[in-house]
Amino acid sequence: MQLIDKYTTADLLTAADQHILYTTNRPEVMMERGEGMYLWDTEGKCYLDFIGGWAVTCLGHAPKAIEKALTKQAGQLINASPAFYNVPMVSFAKMLTEMTCFDKVFFTTSGSEANEGAIKLARKHGQRSLDGAYEIITTVNSFHGRTLATMSATGKDYWEPLFAPKVSGFIHVPFNDIEAIKAAITDKTCAIMLEPVQGEGGVNVADPIYVKAVRKICDEHNILLIFDEVQTGMGRTGKMFAYEHYDIEPDIMTLAKGIGGGYPLSAMLTKSVYNIFDAGDQGGTYTAQPLGMAVGMAVLETIVKEKIVENTVAQSAYLMKCLNEMEADYGIKSVRGMGLLIAFDLPEPKGAEVVGACLEKGLLINSPKPATIRLMPPLIVTREAIDSMLKTMTEVLASVLK
Ligand SMILES: *Cc1c(COP(=O)(O)O)cnc(C)c1O
Repeated sequence: MQLIDKYTTADLLTAADQHILYTTNRPEVMMERGEGMYLWDTEGKCYLDFIGGWAVTCLGHAPKAIEKALTKQAGQLINASPAFYNVPMVSFAKMLTEMTCFDKVFFTTSGSEANEGAIKLARKHGQRSLDGAYEIITTVNSFHGRTLATMSATGKDYWEPLFAPKVSGFIHVPFNDIEAIKAAITDKTCAIMLEPVQGEGGVNVADPIYVKAVRKICDEHNILLIFDEVQTGMGRTGKMFAYEHYDIEPDIMTLAKGIGGGYPLSAMLTKSVYNIFDAGDQGGTYTAQPLGMAVGMAVLETIVKEKIVENTVAQSAYLMKCLNEMEADYGIKSVRGMGLLIAFDLPEPKGAEVVGACLEKGLLINSPKPATIRLMPPLIVTREAIDSMLKTMTEVLASVLK
């Protein structure tokens, strides 16, 4: 049943209001189609997309590689059950372990679930090797997901009172502060969990000296270093994985968002020494579901073959240079980020207004905090698309900031 064949956009928006459970504020727009850097709504209006499905559509919208992989796999095997191995699951795990410092992969469908797996594995390590230690240190302004445990791990102040009682055992310390971590470690600590670049927290990049020091502390105490690369993995930061910028190896890495290019897919990777789950400790009906595996392989192959990481580095340098040049004109400041995960601050907390005015003009950008604008375009972005985005955004900044 395609409602759009029978109803107007206004009808659909009314029906959405009636039947979709309220969880967030959405604009009065009904998205219908995507291609490359663009989305189209049911009125035929075109949007240049610098949100990229929330740092997800690394190959742009409706890439042929994903369409082909999905179609082929759907005709062959959609679900064999989590009780059996399947062929694409083994191929994809082999690809990922050959490209990383990890040996073992657990596949699932969302970033939160991958992080749940990481949390459970760290607690298992605590039970086996650290006399029952279970506390995990995470950082203020971090974001690790929306399940109860990952909300508890997340370092957002205003989430603290929600859905009590929270999952206990998470200690939040300031980001990029090694002394705070030293002070928080006790004989109950089993892991430290970090985003190499805090994404939802406003694009805050971890300092190399900090990351190296955290790695050293983890080694000294035999506690696990978990890198949440849900947003930073798969080329987003200008390396295939952000840990490669730091010359260290985490013990666990989680991936989601870009790994499926828009298809729900995530992974938790670890080393052979932490292959310590007992049967039944971790699982899920859709673990390593063949459609996801086929898509994941197609996305990874395309990133490598089409030199998407190289494009990320080149376009990032151009976009950063342009934004830095704009600082004086528009009073924007603190241009920051890595690869194509970039943010800057506005002189006033007018992020929502800027986002709304850009939407009007057919440009999608994001404001993760009231005075911050974040850009996370598909990694296939071109210089022409960047120029077009900047033209619209500067018009908006000129009129909103005045
Ligand atoms: C988006 C995100 C998550 C949550 O992923 P979901 O797929 O929404 O569950 C976790 N960690 C980080 C760093 C993220 O950016």
